[in-house]
Amino acid sequence: MGGPAALPNVHDGHKRITYEEMHVTIGKTAQRIKSEFDFFPARVLRTFLKRVSGADGKRRNIPIQAIGLSLYEEVGEVDGTAGLAQEEKLGKEVIRTQWLDFSTLGNRPLVGRRILIVDEVDDSRTTLGYAVSELKKDIQAQFDKLPEDKKADFPPTKLAIFVVHNKLKEKRASIPDDVAYFAGDDIPDVWVDYPWEQEDILLHNEVAAKQKELGL
Ligand code: 5GP
Repeated sequence: MGGPAALPNVHDGHKRITYEEMHVTIGKTAQRIKSEFDFFPARVLRTFLKRVSGADGKRRNIPIQAIGLSLYEEVGEVDGTAGLAQEEKLGKEVIRTQWLDFSTLGNRPLVGRRILIVDEVDDSRTTLGYAVSELKKDIQAQFDKLPEDKKADFPPTKLAIFVVHNKLKEKRASIPDDVAYFAGDDIPDVWVDYPWEQEDILLHNEVAAKQKELGL
């Protein structure tokens, strides 16, 4: 009876992003990363960013490693972190659930490489701040272990960050000046629903389309 039922959640304040929008945003930024930094990973980026390497002129995939970092639920200030330096504080707020698999990275895993950290969203920046500080520690430890006469053979290791969405808000951690930062889109501080988090992708797309139509 009556017309089609109203869609749920249209006014819930969430911004719904579709797979297609992710693809387009990543593709646009890939061009910038290519011209400004000349390197890049993560699955969709990799599609845009195959690069020619080696004497045979073949296009090769860039290796991707997954790291898992989880933010502790925040209940105001995490106990006992008030007097700590930023880096120590981050360590108390983020848990490592997965880290680099050095066994697949060869015998000089990080030193001298160009490493792009990829995430979907930069919210408070806590997670990215932690990832950078932990990677820098690993890079330094590996560099320190190199024989003295080999150290000069390596170009400086370069770190960069790519996020699809950067929320425009006050950040709780900062990114060091020597780490390049690329964001696909700067967005307001709203919760984003990503397509891969949805059980019903068709409904997600439908609500996303409706929200767009209503200018939400
Ligand atoms: P941050 O450390 O920058 O506060 O948060 C990073 C992590 O929190 C992200 O990698 C993501 O897992 C989660 N997160 C933050 N904001 C959002 C959001 O709007 N939508 C979703 N789905 N996850 C978010």
